[in-house]
Amino acid sequence: MSGPKKVLLAAPRGYCAGVDRAVIAVEKALERYGAPVYVRKQIVHNIHVVTELEQKGAIFVEEVDEVPAGAHVVFSAHGVSPAVVSAAADRGLQAIDATCPLVTKVHREAVRFARDDFEILLVGHEGHEEVEGTAGEAPDHVTVVNSPDEADRVEVRDPSKVVWLSQTTLSVDETMETVRRLRTRFPELQDPPSDDICYATQNRQVAIKKVAKDADLVIVVGSANSSNSVRLVEVALEYGAKAAYRVDYVDEVKQEWLDGVQTVGVTSGASVPEVLVQEVLEELSGAGYRDVEEVRTAEEDLMFSLPKELRTDTSGRRDARALGGRGRA
Ligand code: SF4
Repeated sequence: MSGPKKVLLAAPRGYCAGVDRAVIAVEKALERYGAPVYVRKQIVHNIHVVTELEQKGAIFVEEVDEVPAGAHVVFSAHGVSPAVVSAAADRGLQAIDATCPLVTKVHREAVRFARDDFEILLVGHEGHEEVEGTAGEAPDHVTVVNSPDEADRVEVRDPSKVVWLSQTTLSVDETMETVRRLRTRFPELQDPPSDDICYATQNRQVAIKKVAKDADLVIVVGSANSSNSVRLVEVALEYGAKAAYRVDYVDEVKQEWLDGVQTVGVTSGASVPEVLVQEVLEELSGAGYRDVEEVRTAEEDLMFSLPKELRTDTSGRRDARALGGRGRA
């Protein structure tokens, strides 16, 4: 090893506007209605966030039929299909929809293209909650395409009326490869009206690409079921990191990962609180990696208004946090 030990800290990293909003929505619901508040699925895909909210009185369930009739239920940032909304209404649940507005945008695109009788090729991971929600908007019109290889095999009814949409948290490069192969087979394939892969996913990938080329090791803080976190590990390896690992917590960092390592890149997924990154940095500092250089590739100042069910306080005033909505994607 030559030269001093160093950390390259990717920025942007961590919380995005949609995660911030969803977590605050659960906290506000607990404040307003008291515990317990039910949440369908993990509010965001991060074990630390879920555990903290559980300690405050949130109860996480898989489906709305586990929620007592009449109780409050929060829909997660990943969105829900219309069938879930109906099932909640049938049980008389008080639903609070914390779906990220950028996921809702993709839902609206699916509805619109289905109405115009397009076949929708939804690039995304089968079984992921977001994909289930989006596909559920137009189940007769949506086919999920999991990978570039699947693009070579998928069949459509009418190749002249096909559009692709995508999950918001995919690898940009892999998605473009999937679309390239789809277009080879279906030259009239239409693009989404705007990027479906969200600003936060894109920004975190751009930052880690810049870090990875100079890193012997990249540590991504994020949970195993967090799509955008897992993608950051893949992107780091593709862009030159000699090794890359994902951890939920600092105690998962293995000492042998640091053997012979001069430069460590660090980042975190869009559902990860900064405190978990700081704990990793402290651990690295203890191992001699005290020089931390931030590698920033974008500024983010986007904020979303709270779900409409939470926008007024009990006295009828507008909630200050609900007046957000500034910024750009
Ligand atoms: S990762 Fe993107 S789509 Fe998902 S919650 Fe964050 S901003 Fe919304």
